[in-house]
Amino acid sequence: MNFHIMTLFPEMVMQGLDTSIIGRAMENGIIDIEAVNIRDYAFNKHNKVDDYIYGGGAGMLMQAEPVYLCYEAIAGRIKDKRGGEYKPRVIYLTPQGEVFSQKKAAELALEDDLILLCGHYEGIDERVLEEIVTDNISIGDYVLTGGELPAMIVVDAVSRLIPGVLGSDVSAEFESFHDNLLEYPQYSRPEVWHDKRVPEILLSGHHANIEKWRHEQSVIRTKQRRPDLLT
Ligand code: SAM
Repeated sequence: MNFHIMTLFPEMVMQGLDTSIIGRAMENGIIDIEAVNIRDYAFNKHNKVDDYIYGGGAGMLMQAEPVYLCYEAIAGRIKDKRGGEYKPRVIYLTPQGEVFSQKKAAELALEDDLILLCGHYEGIDERVLEEIVTDNISIGDYVLTGGELPAMIVVDAVSRLIPGVLGSDVSAEFESFHDNLLEYPQYSRPEVWHDKRVPEILLSGHHANIEKWRHEQSVIRTKQRRPDLLT
């Protein structure tokens, strides 16, 4: 899987992703992440990529042309690599998008190339969004200063569903949101901590009973914390 992140702050994105599990997956060539600086496609001598908003209002807007040129450069490289008329999926990170979910992550994990577009300031000129964006994704009902953190969240959630990124393929299988359930409580050593014992059943070695207990706990926890998932 190749992620192409269009941003004004490539260092922020790469520093955030180039560690731990995702960093290792990059090192092992399982995923590839490039952060492309939209400012490199500015068409004026001051490298300016934002301007005032027509109709008035506070703040600045990212202009259409640098975003479009940056997209064309990335899409052109993807096309050269794949041949044909392939149009890559372009995700605009925006508070106005569909709220990101595990289901959406699983859908995106099937792609070979994903372009992620990070806005800044008051956002991006609508005209270029109309031309290039295929998906609008929000990470929640609040407004951030930029799309970089949301892009990193999408890359992380999608990457860990790609075979080989996690230590074992099973790790992603029985987690929260699988079958619309939250994960059951988990415990590690020691057996007693602050007078709290690990539930006896988990020490029994009886796998069928442990699975049954875990499923029950998942249902109880989901009912308590996220009843909406059960409907
Ligand atoms: N004026 C825009 C609005 O009201 O919809 C908000 C712009 S926000 C200050 C700047 C950029 O941050 C957006 O273009 C988007 O890329 C990103 N952003 C902010 N909140 C986000 C969220 N909840 N999910 C995804 N991206 C977000």
